Amino acid sequence: MANLIQAIRGMHDVLPEQTPLWQYAENIIREVLGSYGYQEIRLPIVEKTELFKRSIGEVTDIVEKEMYTFDDRNGDSLTLRPEGTAGCLRACLEHGLLNGQAHRLWYYGPMYRHERPQKGRYRQFIQLGVETYGMAGPEIDTELLLIMERLWRRLGVREQVKLQINSLGTIAERLVYRDNLVQYFQAHPEQLDEDSLRRLQTNPLRILDSKNPAMRELIDQAPELMSYLGEDSRQHFNAITTRLEQLGVSYDINPRLVRGLDYYSKTVFEWVTDALGAQGTVCAGGRYDTLIEQLGGKASHAAGFAMGMERLLALMETQSSIQTAKPVDVYMVRVGLNAEQHGLRFAEQLREALPTLKLQLNMEGGSFKSQFKKADKSGADFAIILGDDEVNRAEVSIKSLRDSQGQHVLSESQAIAFFQDYLLSRQ
Ligand code: ATP
Ligand code: MG
Repeated sequence: MANLIQAIRGMHDVLPEQTPLWQYAENIIREVLGSYGYQEIRLPIVEKTELFKRSIGEVTDIVEKEMYTFDDRNGDSLTLRPEGTAGCLRACLEHGLLNGQAHRLWYYGPMYRHERPQKGRYRQFIQLGVETYGMAGPEIDTELLLIMERLWRRLGVREQVKLQINSLGTIAERLVYRDNLVQYFQAHPEQLDEDSLRRLQTNPLRILDSKNPAMRELIDQAPELMSYLGEDSRQHFNAITTRLEQLGVSYDINPRLVRGLDYYSKTVFEWVTDALGAQGTVCAGGRYDTLIEQLGGKASHAAGFAMGMERLLALMETQSSIQTAKPVDVYMVRVGLNAEQHGLRFAEQLREALPTLKLQLNMEGGSFKSQFKKADKSGADFAIILGDDEVNRAEVSIKSLRDSQGQHVLSESQAIAFFQDYLLSRQ
């Protein structure tokens, strides 16, 4: 097989054997978000580069080195979205959705970042994004955390994740803190690595997020943003933690949690796991009130989160208790021309009567024996068998493929009733 074209590095396929787990997670996500009254919004994958520069921030990792940016045929600079928050807000502002109203929205789809591919870090990855507008919090911040808590429980990974929460205060509070932080780091230049020296000039808070173990001690001793918060920020934060305690949601305060995007204020949080090695953040978010004005809207409020689906799926794969749907319930074996025609018609009749039954027909011909092998391999619970005998008597044979109960011969209407019971018994 010479010269096969391969996928782009860091952009992977989800193969049919993996999709049931994805669909399982996606169904739960839709259901949980629906149960809180959130609505889906569908957004373009490509946006003007300017949108991301203005929102995410010029001196963030994403904008500095991770974006897929290109000139289109008109010479406009476009970018494959690296995240969804900016596009979602752009759409809502553009369509006048934010005129004094509150919204609860979600979106789901691929994001693109030119990062070094490794386990849990890809160049195309799927995010679930949840955004709320027009609500000042702390109630809505808490609701977002409750949604995540419920998602983990429903997805069967609650024990594997932990909530870390922090407050970044207002921009003014952060500026004062930033000056103090810069002074602290400048007093220890010999302990700063190359990245941190650069960030000291551009984005010093990001130094706190450094993954370099050699920097650990210096960072641990650094001043904490929490002690620079004003009364309003402090109350906002305390109101969230109090509610979490009342509702039994456990959390850790992580004073070093800063997030890599510039637009956050007050609440920030991450759900982290130690089950996935280095890429341990499965879900992250917070409040980003100022982004609305930054993108040209009237001052309002916004808070949201994004969940990395590949990391979630990797976590779910560690749980053997999760049962996903099989691709085929019933496999039809047909031998002989009459049986083929008869079977095709009966299959349509079955689908008409039982739309959720997953019925697959053998279309490769072959003997009863070879077709039975395929029936077994399909993972189906039952085989329907049609040969000349059955056709002549207007009957079908049904054989369980999971136990040795043998074959029953039924009329067509009895067979429909049989599979109806089967579907009911599975619910
Ligand atoms: P990290 O610190 O892991 O780089 P981030 O701060 O860049 O994450 P966000 O922009 O907040 O991540 O994105 C939210 C979530 O999306 C992350 O917590 C993660 O689960 C997922 N995510 C981000 N980048 C990637 C990627 N390159 N591949 C897979 N998932 C990703
Ligand atoms: Mg990143």
